[in-house]
Amino acid sequence: MLIIGLTGGIASGKTTVSKLFSSLGVPIIDTDIISRQLLERDQPAYEKIVEHFGDEILHEDQNIDRHRLRRIVFDNETERLWLEDTLHPIINQQTQQQIKQYKDEAYVIVVIPLLFETDFQTLVNRILVIGCAAEIQIKRLIARDSIELNLAQKMLAQQWSNKDRLKRADDIIHNDYELDGDVGLDLDRQVAKLHQKYLLLSA
Ligand code: ATP
Repeated sequence: MLIIGLTGGIASGKTTVSKLFSSLGVPIIDTDIISRQLLERDQPAYEKIVEHFGDEILHEDQNIDRHRLRRIVFDNETERLWLEDTLHPIINQQTQQQIKQYKDEAYVIVVIPLLFETDFQTLVNRILVIGCAAEIQIKRLIARDSIELNLAQKMLAQQWSNKDRLKRADDIIHNDYELDGDVGLDLDRQVAKLHQKYLLLSA
């Protein structure tokens, strides 16, 4: 089975593209979803994180306020590294377990936002990068998450640049255009083409 790591900058379209692969019947493992689930109350990371950051990161119902946590770590590199060191080994392990479940499939897509910034590269056979211009990422990020320009810019600045990511890609999907209209079809076409390529490679 071929393991494709799908990555790209924040709001570049990883979820949008993974849904297109999913509609072709390709199994998707999303490390962002795994990471969100780890913050839930019955999960092992919950206690550790609340103990570290204190009650200020909790909603009234005692669930972790992910937006609050995100703001704290984006303003503080030490805290960000602590959170990553706490969560990444568990995410890595759970991803490997999920990959095993799909061993009879031709290929699986693993969505890994920080593939280059972490050691998750070792989990995958090929790297698929979503290319998207920084100003479009910022526009989509602000529209989707209702955050200020300043925070959006800061979030982008903490990641690898698109240029560096594209240099390390085995495959690329360009997602600079709007979904509706002719270029939206282009996204479908790019995914369909890669799907055929991955089926061939895995055969
Ligand atoms: P994150 O890094 O935050 O997880 P992501 O890379 O998964 O984000 P998406 O959530 O797929 O990115 O896309 C970001 C936003 O941009 C979403 O609101 C999505 O609907 C929108 N979007 C993505 N691609 C396009 C496109 N080609 N045209 C218009 N809107 C798009």
